[in-house]
Amino acid sequence: MTTVLLMGPPGAGKGTHAGHLAGHLGVPVISTGDLFRRNIAEQTELGRTAQAYLDAGEYVPDEVTNDMVRDRLAAPDARPGFVLDGYPRTLHQAKVLDEILGAQGRSLDAALVLRVEVDALVARLLRRAEIEHRSDDTEDVIRRRFEVYHDQTAPLVDFYAERGIHYEVDASPDVDTVRASVWQVAVELKPAA
Ligand code: AMP
Repeated sequence: MTTVLLMGPPGAGKGTHAGHLAGHLGVPVISTGDLFRRNIAEQTELGRTAQAYLDAGEYVPDEVTNDMVRDRLAAPDARPGFVLDGYPRTLHQAKVLDEILGAQGRSLDAALVLRVEVDALVARLLRRAEIEHRSDDTEDVIRRRFEVYHDQTAPLVDFYAERGIHYEVDASPDVDTVRASVWQVAVELKPAA
């Protein structure tokens, strides 16, 4: 398994586990949230476009996001594979991702969903807010991000389930346990040599 995406509600640990999994697989993490935040920090045109959306907990428009990912997936380091963190988040993005990968002669191996109870997530996110000072980790924005996830991203689970590449991991235990579960799925998926 070398082309994988990690899905899950805000605070489920996508970033952490995408990093672990990518390290194991020896492929880069492609995190749209990180790419947006870097562009915002560097005050690029893309960053100026994205900032208001991130601050409000809304999704950046699909065209902007898709173009950014298309560029990133064309980079040589993504050739052997990648772990996508936070993309696709809408059905339209999922379809565009299929097109991008199809044009490169490949497809997605797995969509891994991290499952956690909402109450536990709010507590995690508020803790992260204290540590990282992210502008979108205030309580109102957190609530909005859950709504947006529920409305726009949760339906993607069915999209990938129908294709038979959807896997679930219980992400409520401690980080090491979840990490082992994610790796277990990855190992099971590895094509036999
Ligand atoms: P994340 O770090 O993945 O939680 O993303 C932080 C914020 O970046 C989101 O709340 C959105 O505003 C924006 N963002 C990240 N990925 C996407 C995406 N695939 N589509 C639209 N907006 C995104």
